[in-house]
Amino acid sequence: MNAAGFGIDNKERDMDCIILDGKALAALRAPLFAERVRALKAANGDAVPVLATILVGDDPSSATYVKMKGNACRAIGMASRAVMLPADTTTAQLLAEIDALNADPDVHGILLQHPVPAQIDERQCFDRINIAKDVDGVTSLGFGRMALGEPAFGSATPAGIMSLLAHHGIGLAGKRAVVVGRSAILGKPMALMLSNAHATVTLCHSRTVDLEAEVRRADILVGAVGKPHFIRADWIKDGAVVIDAGYHQGGIGDIEPTGLVQRCLAVTPVPGGVGPMTISTLVGQTLDAACAAADL
Ligand code: NAP
Repeated sequence: MNAAGFGIDNKERDMDCIILDGKALAALRAPLFAERVRALKAANGDAVPVLATILVGDDPSSATYVKMKGNACRAIGMASRAVMLPADTTTAQLLAEIDALNADPDVHGILLQHPVPAQIDERQCFDRINIAKDVDGVTSLGFGRMALGEPAFGSATPAGIMSLLAHHGIGLAGKRAVVVGRSAILGKPMALMLSNAHATVTLCHSRTVDLEAEVRRADILVGAVGKPHFIRADWIKDGAVVIDAGYHQGGIGDIEPTGLVQRCLAVTPVPGGVGPMTISTLVGQTLDAACAAADL
């Protein structure tokens, strides 16, 4: 038994730290998605699943993420439709675009790239997305259903992390999970998903009094702070499972990685860990939405 009590001991298994390789898992899932797209096309008069992406403004990182999501759709035979809006778009204008996509039967999923410019009411716009097309899990209704354990598309980043943990057989029941960051798209849904999977969850944020002490207790640690290498490697106990959701220029995450591979049960690489799973989850959920729309 390793230090965190997972019943998977790296030494017993004569292997190194488990690398939670999101790029590899996304590559493994892509042909399965492609096969489902072909089956859907065959059963549905050649119609392909379509993900509509909405980008407001010209933030280069957001533009790159949107482009990557479109590319991932095309790689498995799905289509994407890019809606590009100027930085001075109003809430009313964005709501009208969302209404048009909601009403379009050829569109199966809608992604509104976060963050939007400050003058826009982002929550109102997220909530305008039809629940059946909320493949990024951003609506209040979808969040509520997920929190209650009811069927809903999960927020793509935490849902992707859950898939990565499940794929590597990392059991969560009874484990102490610590999530650092409580944003609506990442930290909060992550904490609820881990709780639904029977982990005992602590959700930390900027008012947490002794973050280091909280992190030290983690069997499973998720860093979602948005600050490069903010969580120090020497706060993390031996045998922990370390998930770094952060991404900063130069391939830097939110967790300092020094020495973790030598003493942790499992770690996500940055890049190549959480990011590819976010995109894969979004694509998979769009495919699910298209299948549901076609009653398949
Ligand atoms: P965010 O909205 O800025 O939220 C950051 C969270 O960190 C907030 O809850 C904040 O607490 C907390 N925080 C800030 N300073 C802290 C401190 N000193 N101690 C403890 N907590 C602190 O960020 P986000 O959108 O969730 O993104 C987080 C990270 O994930 C970023 O690096 C982002 O690039 C990355 N990300 C990656 C993907 C992916 O697909 N790989 C997707 C989304 C985001 P308060 O609530 O108290 O302010």
